[in-house]
Amino acid sequence: MNLENIIRENVKKLSPYSSARDEFEQFTKPMIYLDANENPFSNGMNRYPDPQQKELKAIIADRNNVSKENILLGNGSDEVLDLILRAFCEPNRDNIITLPPTYGMYGVLANINAIENREVLLNEEFQPNVEAIINAVDNNTKIIFLCSPNNPTGNSFTDSSVIKILNQFKGLVVIDEAYIDFSKDESWLSVLKDFPNLIITQTLSKAYAMAGLRIGILYASREIIAVLNKIKPPYNINGLSQETAVKKLLQSTMPTQVRKILVERNKLIEALSKCLFVEKIYPSDANFILIKVDDANFRYQQFIENGVVVRNRSNQPLCENCLRISIGTKEETEQIIELLKTFNNAEKSIICR
Ligand SMILES: *Cc1c(COP(=O)(O)O)cnc(C)c1O
Repeated sequence: MNLENIIRENVKKLSPYSSARDEFEQFTKPMIYLDANENPFSNGMNRYPDPQQKELKAIIADRNNVSKENILLGNGSDEVLDLILRAFCEPNRDNIITLPPTYGMYGVLANINAIENREVLLNEEFQPNVEAIINAVDNNTKIIFLCSPNNPTGNSFTDSSVIKILNQFKGLVVIDEAYIDFSKDESWLSVLKDFPNLIITQTLSKAYAMAGLRIGILYASREIIAVLNKIKPPYNINGLSQETAVKKLLQSTMPTQVRKILVERNKLIEALSKCLFVEKIYPSDANFILIKVDDANFRYQQFIENGVVVRNRSNQPLCENCLRISIGTKEETEQIIELLKTFNNAEKSIICR
């Protein structure tokens, strides 16, 4: 892959905005900063935040055994995904490939940026159809988006299918690992160096319990990171989010919480497997379960009437009559399990075993 051939012409040519803080970051002695038109009265937030989020990146780099030069942070994964499209895809000319049923944002971002979204359905096992994907590629295909573990199906893609796509496609392959910390499989980060066309995205929104902070993480080669840095808004992670994320990451509550969530996932699977209205429980590597039920609209409504909101995924391809249920706390799971028992008496008169 030659990165120069994939970058959009205007991005290649543009000179990025240079923020006041970028230019003088190497100064270690205390300086008087009169360069950014800030209010000088200290209140903890009167200064612009670090545009390169060095403290936060150092922690993330250290935990994941990568160098901070291989990291870019965004205002949620949404922003990093959008940056990838804007850096590499020429509107009204280029295309991307996505594999439905999958995360809806890839298609939405493609639409916003006037980029064609070529959809190649997953197979019946919710695995990538590698041959069909490669057949869908043309000279204007810039990016293939893989979501593993996949949302909403919950499964991970097999190593062999991912490797084939990485080897056979000459553009960029994005692996969205939003749910990787719930998975028995390892992250693809360990092979980042072997594939110059690989981009991995993760997030602090799910396992790390910081959805409210909006912090998405992108890992890629230094060359790719440099291109994305050219177009990212200079202060894209606000000061409060950077500070809070650093604090929370140092508390290290993630592994314990993930373990607890996986215990509840097993309990819920067990309870659902006894319900006759549940026709199929798909294997999950994530903090949610996809189930096929007798009548998704009916069951969705039934959940709502009992004060529980789940996600109806019926309108997605291959997901007819499917509901996606996130895993909650122990107490929430106990309530859901009690509720499932009452679904016995529903109009449809279908009973739990
Ligand atoms: C939840 C989710 C994300 C996270 O998005 P953020 O903008 O970081 O909150 C990314 N990808 C997938 C597939 C998701 O389900």
